[in-house]
Amino acid sequence: MTTEAPHGSYHMSPDEFRRHGHDVIDWLARYMEDVGDRPITPTIEPGQIRARMPDSVPEQPEPFDAILRDLDEIVMPGITHWQSPGWFAYFPANTSPPSILGELVAAGLGVQGMLWSTSPAATEIEEVVADWLVDLLGLPEPWKTTGPGGGVIQMSASDSTHTALVVAREQASGEDGKMVVYASEQAHSSVEKGAMVAGYGHVRLVPVDDRYAMRAGAFDAAIETDVAKGLIPVAVVSAVGTTGTTAVDPVRAIGEIARAHGLWHHVDAAYAGTAMTCPEFRHYQDGLELADSYTFNPHKWMFTNFDCSLFYVADRRPLIEALSIVPPYLRNEASESGQVIDYRDWHVPLGRRFRALKLWFVLRSYGAEGIRHHVREHVALATTLGERIDSHPELERIAPIPFGLVSFRHVGGDEATDALASAINDSGWAYVTPSTIDGRRFIRVSIGQTHTTAEHVDRLWGLIEEVVGSR
Ligand SMILES: *Cc1c(COP(=O)(O)O)cnc(C)c1O
Repeated sequence: MTTEAPHGSYHMSPDEFRRHGHDVIDWLARYMEDVGDRPITPTIEPGQIRARMPDSVPEQPEPFDAILRDLDEIVMPGITHWQSPGWFAYFPANTSPPSILGELVAAGLGVQGMLWSTSPAATEIEEVVADWLVDLLGLPEPWKTTGPGGGVIQMSASDSTHTALVVAREQASGEDGKMVVYASEQAHSSVEKGAMVAGYGHVRLVPVDDRYAMRAGAFDAAIETDVAKGLIPVAVVSAVGTTGTTAVDPVRAIGEIARAHGLWHHVDAAYAGTAMTCPEFRHYQDGLELADSYTFNPHKWMFTNFDCSLFYVADRRPLIEALSIVPPYLRNEASESGQVIDYRDWHVPLGRRFRALKLWFVLRSYGAEGIRHHVREHVALATTLGERIDSHPELERIAPIPFGLVSFRHVGGDEATDALASAINDSGWAYVTPSTIDGRRFIRVSIGQTHTTAEHVDRLWGLIEEVVGSR
């Protein structure tokens, strides 16, 4: 049986694309306008979205309008609105108009930037934005691609941290089963996962102080204990802004201890890295020049949609040595000249999207000034909320507020704290994350969604006062 294509082809024509493309942009613009009015979390049962979908691919082509209609009817009822200005949960996963447009262009160009030669602009624009960010964030100058180090965009901070641990392992000598990675008790789970996948035998979680930052002395002592046991300390991951409470580890002290014992020092600033656009926060990253690698996620707070995680190394040679394999079909003159960067050697995947484009759009469209403005606004809102909490007898802050996260609990205990979190989340328009630290419940209010302003934080405070009473 032969099938006749509708007009000789099943492809959407450029004219149809233009028309539907306008419809999609209109659809997204409307979404931006009304996302704040939608209940943030969907009220659906597991399987409900699936039940509305056919069991197989449609045999006949469907009109694009039907697809768009189902976006509203099937998809939207199951969407959690991370882009709502009432989003105070986890950390932000921001997007913004320039980011969306950059992503669209990257999809349209559809290039594979695995080698410089497979699309030179993809590599060189990525180098440039990585280098720009070194200055914008006050990172050490040698981390530029024009120096001995360099930055690369990975999918996630988890990938960056995993990659750092692989390079550290390759640098060390000894049996895998004896190698140890150190991080604080408050480190992100990606450290343990990365160490597990990289084949480390041990992950030592170092105790924290009353601000939830790693105790440098305890780190030093743990190294001594492990060495005495015949184990091999290989790497340490310090955090500038932990996920739990945005605690800041003593980067310089950890870096000095790491150097003294020959450990690789990786710094995880996945969320808080964006704050370093503002010089007044840079004291929190003091000592970075002692680090071997670093990661931060523009896809959290820097208005750039997932995926976009920067990974920097102070020296790119061990990274490339650890990850470079050259099959014959990838050999080419440019690579062999040594004059170009082939980013496939900087991470696990071969194929790579043109992720730098959306970040380039964002950095140019906001300008350094625009990013600083919004970061400062978010941090100021968090500080004000913290002051309100401090002056309320029923509430108690549990950690400092260096950036945009406010961590607090109800003085009445776990049940009262959970009830408050539920009341906030049941409101539909605000969404927070309840969590546990030191065996006690607390509430994380993360202020940093692209469109969150004083109006939204005031409204959240009003909701909190409805539950706990106004002073
Ligand atoms: C969010 C976060 C991560 C994980 O980031 P992904 O990009 O989702 O892998 C790692 N570390 C810290 C401190 C984080 O806040």
